Amino acid sequence: MRLIQQKQHDTTNHVLGQPLGEDNPRVHGIKSSLLIPGRGQPMNNGAVIIQDDKIAWVGPESSIPTKYNLISFTNVPVLMPGLWDCHIHYHGRGPNGRADDGQFTSSGALAGARVARELERTLLAGFTSVREVSGFGGEVAPAVEDGTFIGPHVFSSFASLSMTAGHADIHNLPMSTVLDAAAHGLANYVCDGKADCIKGVRTQLRRGAKLIKICATGGVGSIIDDPEDAEFSPEELKAMVDEAARAKRIVAAHCHGKEGIIAALKAGVRTIEHGSYLDDECAALMQEKGAILVPTRLVIQSGLENKNEWPPLQYSKMVKIAGPHKKAYKLAVQKGVKIALGTDYVPGKNGKELVYAVEAGMTPLEAIEACTATSPETLGAHLAPKSGQLKEGYDADLIAVSANPLEDISILSNVENVTHVWKGGRLFKSP
Ligand SMILES: [Zn+2]
Repeated sequence: MRLIQQKQHDTTNHVLGQPLGEDNPRVHGIKSSLLIPGRGQPMNNGAVIIQDDKIAWVGPESSIPTKYNLISFTNVPVLMPGLWDCHIHYHGRGPNGRADDGQFTSSGALAGARVARELERTLLAGFTSVREVSGFGGEVAPAVEDGTFIGPHVFSSFASLSMTAGHADIHNLPMSTVLDAAAHGLANYVCDGKADCIKGVRTQLRRGAKLIKICATGGVGSIIDDPEDAEFSPEELKAMVDEAARAKRIVAAHCHGKEGIIAALKAGVRTIEHGSYLDDECAALMQEKGAILVPTRLVIQSGLENKNEWPPLQYSKMVKIAGPHKKAYKLAVQKGVKIALGTDYVPGKNGKELVYAVEAGMTPLEAIEACTATSPETLGAHLAPKSGQLKEGYDADLIAVSANPLEDISILSNVENVTHVWKGGRLFKSP
């Protein structure tokens, strides 16, 4: 695989991150034996024309407008929108693969350097956009935007808001250390009471958050809390949702237990993350509220398969929720709850999430839609970019794959099968 480095400041080298058209470098085309648009039916022998960073035209190869006769085309077997990971954290994992609470045990510079590598891996796996629900990706993303290194579009919440003793509190550290970390702009923010919760939302907005992430139940990776317990009071939840809404931001709620799911939905959150104990009542309320489920199966499945990566207590919590989560995911698919895919896992392996979506009952085409066209909706109507579909006027974020994922969805879980990645009309990976 050839990695095409993006160096916007280097004007002497024209292959670097440039569109492919030689006569008019601002316009180029891609022809594909199979075109999967993200939403709607696939097309045989389709073509896409890219102008600058947008899709200018999509249709059958036989109908390409004559004004594009002189542009250059790339031919690929399968073309589809760039994928989205709607639940990811960039923590700057060390060589042992674990985050090691990097924000406390390494310098911000070291964590940032590792995040740069994680962002690159994400893009090369075919994921051109991510919704980061706490982590350092939001801090590092400006260096992607200015061309210092490569990565996906990052829509970050910056920190995750948690009550004291909640999921994003760090229970084995002195309280003062956790509060100090929050004050220094790291990924965990503890707040209690309406005023403090509103301050938490505003603090993330000040950092540039594109969404607000809260923890409405206990979690697996934390220590003393139970995933089935609700966290934050209904008043606190509502205060955070209302404050976010004033800035046109949606709230994503980490939820395992039913009580927390219901409370979060009643408060008006847009997305339920994980949803392990979702039942008929939760599914009905999600549909009534127009909420989206981000099930994150990969982190659970990988946790079960890699016991040694987890401390014993957290592993036992993982085992406990794994069964209910699988059942809840299937139920949500069956009931027609709107679903967007997110991994909560290690960048580069993101494509495996589609395999679990199919296992939960989606068709491969539905799984692709949940990983492309539906994804921007998790940012809400005001902030959702025109992305995730091969459609005129949409962002020119596309990938080519070497075989048909509608026949075998696991094609997308091997980065070697992702032969081309275009982001904003620029080519970042080619064979
Ligand atoms: Zn997460």
